[in-house]
Amino acid sequence: MPSIDTDDVASNRLNLRVLGTESEHLLTAKPVASSSVVAVIRSDPTGAFARGTLIGADVPLQRMRVTFLGTGSALPTGERFQAGILVQEDGRTVLIDCGAGALQRLQQSGVGYEGVSTVLLTHHHLDHVSDLLPLVKARWLAGEDHLEVVGPQGTKALLDDLLAVHEYMQDKIDLQVREVVPGEFSVAGFDVSAYETRHSLPCLAYRFDDRFTFSGDSEAFEGLANFAEGSAILAHDCSFPDGVDVSNHPTPDSLGRALAGREIGRVYLTHLYPHTEGQHEEMLESIGAHYDGDVRFAEDLQTISIE
Ligand SMILES: [Zn+2]
Ligand SMILES: [Zn+2]
Repeated sequence: MPSIDTDDVASNRLNLRVLGTESEHLLTAKPVASSSVVAVIRSDPTGAFARGTLIGADVPLQRMRVTFLGTGSALPTGERFQAGILVQEDGRTVLIDCGAGALQRLQQSGVGYEGVSTVLLTHHHLDHVSDLLPLVKARWLAGEDHLEVVGPQGTKALLDDLLAVHEYMQDKIDLQVREVVPGEFSVAGFDVSAYETRHSLPCLAYRFDDRFTFSGDSEAFEGLANFAEGSAILAHDCSFPDGVDVSNHPTPDSLGRALAGREIGRVYLTHLYPHTEGQHEEMLESIGAHYDGDVRFAEDLQTISIE
């Protein structure tokens, strides 16, 4: 691959200069919703790259970017696919959870399955892992040679069992699996803290320094609110509206009570069951009765930049 130089980084366009050729050419490319700028070449007047070729270029941006790929649940809607969140900064990318639809959303986000070499799982419910093996297969077919999957205890067994069912996928790529426990560790170059949530399967919430915390699936409770306190952005499970009799997930009332008095920059509600459609105003009011911070509903393919 020719070396490339980047300049003129505008808000949504980027010029790539192709070096190492007789003359330098400017190719116009569209950067993805990403600080790492994996650029999809839209036009190629020089013939240096085939149309659609993916090129990696390091364009350091200071901001962390969080992209919701799926804000739905085990009952996805046409607008809300199953769980998936991209965290990106300075050329590093980690995909948190990989539920059904994550592959399509990855393509829509412009990052693509080629752009994700690390997956961090909160837990092993289907709506968080359904697209894991399809991701392995897509990366293999796309010529990528590795994937790291990091998750709670049992993640190794999960991957072993999936590969036992789909035997032909064994050894197609270099699959590294790492199990983590509550505490601090590094994933894809990010310093991450993990905290055990209250759910029907062992589940970890993850915090990326003071910028981003994701609850995973969990009831709302004080310990998790403490864990998230001080985050610029908290994405929190808010599966159902009030009045639904549910355990292992919050309702707005229980979430508002848990968050009361916390200092959090902004809260995004995610893991939304179809029951929540048409109930957004009531849900925000219910949370607001206890918690006076900024609370919004996350949407699929929404990106948030965090300083
Ligand atoms: Zn779950
Ligand atoms: Zn779930």
